[in-house]
Amino acid sequence: MSSNYLRIIADLPDWTPDGPRAEQLGAAAQEMFGARSAEVTSGDRGEIVFLDQGEWFEGISCPNCGAAVDTAWWGERMDTAAENGFTDLSVTTECCGSATSLNDLVYRKPAGFARFVIEVRELDKTYADDTSVAALEQIAGRPLRQVAARY
Ligand SMILES: [Zn+2]
Repeated sequence: MSSNYLRIIADLPDWTPDGPRAEQLGAAAQEMFGARSAEVTSGDRGEIVFLDQGEWFEGISCPNCGAAVDTAWWGERMDTAAENGFTDLSVTTECCGSATSLNDLVYRKPAGFARFVIEVRELDKTYADDTSVAALEQIAGRPLRQVAARY
């Protein structure tokens, strides 16, 4: 049996909310998604993790020129970054020599890096609506990103 996950993460991989804000985010997510999903959890993973798309991986491209990023090249950069706990995500693309980061490459579907993760399992749709995300962003005080995955 496969499962769907929606992860809501901050734009900055190493961002974590303080205690009260983390509690508020968890409570708000529970209120928004609790009745429409199998499980809602949230918390600081203790280190930066990569949230992938599982079966929904389609490809990666350059944020500057749009060229496809070679997945073997990407895999090597991921291995190197993992050795440092994903604290340094900077890369220079092969296609046009752009200085960017592994977090800023264009993933389809979206993916990203984060410490603090709100996770909703088996939500009744793939992504949360804009109103819910805006409400969570208001609490977080940061732009948030949605990463949907199926395993
Ligand atoms: Zn490029």
